[in-house]
Amino acid sequence: MPEPKKITCEECGSKVELYSSWANECSCGTEYNGFGQRLAPREEWGYETGESF
Ligand SMILES: [Zn+2]
Repeated sequence: MPEPKKITCEECGSKVELYSSWANECSCGTEYNGFGQRLAPREEWGYETGESF
């Protein structure tokens, strides 16, 4: 298992540990995927890809 990566939240500047490859939520509610890319709000999920999880 690789060590969780840490990123800095774009919104609040807190450190966010990327435990999950799918979604990691900052204490401010902003979410990042395992690559540290910011995720769209959950309401926007799935419209383009049709994915459900
Ligand atoms: Zn944050």
